[in-house]
Amino acid sequence: MLPPTFFTGAVADRASHRRGDAAWIADRLGDAGTRFVPLWRDRNLMRPGESPAPAFWNVAEVRRATGEVVDPVFLGLDGDGTALFAIDLSGLAEDEAAAAAGAAEFQDLWQVGALLPPGEAGLLAYARGMLYWHRRHRFCGSCGYATEVRDAGHLRVCSNRVCAEHHFPRTDPAVIMLVTGTVDGEEACLMGRQARWPKGMYSTLAGFTEPGESLEEAVAREVREETGVEVTDVAYRGSQPWPFPSSLMLGFHARAVTTDITVDAEELEDARWFTRDDLARRRETGLFLPRRHSIARALIDAWLGEGGGETGR
Ligand SMILES: [Zn+2]
Repeated sequence: MLPPTFFTGAVADRASHRRGDAAWIADRLGDAGTRFVPLWRDRNLMRPGESPAPAFWNVAEVRRATGEVVDPVFLGLDGDGTALFAIDLSGLAEDEAAAAAGAAEFQDLWQVGALLPPGEAGLLAYARGMLYWHRRHRFCGSCGYATEVRDAGHLRVCSNRVCAEHHFPRTDPAVIMLVTGTVDGEEACLMGRQARWPKGMYSTLAGFTEPGESLEEAVAREVREETGVEVTDVAYRGSQPWPFPSSLMLGFHARAVTTDITVDAEELEDARWFTRDDLARRRETGLFLPRRHSIARALIDAWLGEGGGETGR
């Protein structure tokens, strides 16, 4: 199994039993020590600099920006029991948001997340994922009426009394897999690249699961569709929250039973087998692997480790 992945460890305690306790939530919202994670249109508030850090607000700072505290999302408690909320400032115009940010800046977590301590990156990702969901579920998917926030931001209920549908935050499962096999007598892993990626970058294959499909079936189907390779022995290795915008990455290892590659040009620009030696020599050949904080890289590093190789940068 993989070690804990980046973007985990968001909060010490989600305290989910408190979500429906309106008096307790109101009390926490009024506490000067409570911390707010501000977002503006899917961007997290960051203090820029050589080592970027999240900017947290207290309730006075939230009120200064928005007048009142609108639809805060209770995230949980940190290690010392401080309550944490996400707050959406998307209603502000761009210049208003910039003014509210002061010396800080709204930045894309996808760009700067890897530079943060893992727990803080996890907290910001959790807040981003929750507010992304809220902004896209303001209306009921069943009847089209407006929805209303309940349970401190963990539920939206349709305002049409006849419908009254409950909508819960969504996470879309995606599979990501390192396929290995014996190619020309040598152990190798299968990686592909998309045309929009930086030159020389290859990564593990990945794709979304479909309704009526097991994770193991999704792994086998995606590998077959993208590369024509047939796999067996699909084994779970670990997972990574990936709220960019709303996924959970489920990591697998799979064993190839065929090795001929037929690239699906709609999905990939190229796919190839790489030996451990190919990966060790990548500085010379211009091959790039996915970033360190990705589960793709963790799967690759785990395989390199099994071969006694060191992973380097
Ligand atoms: Zn409805």
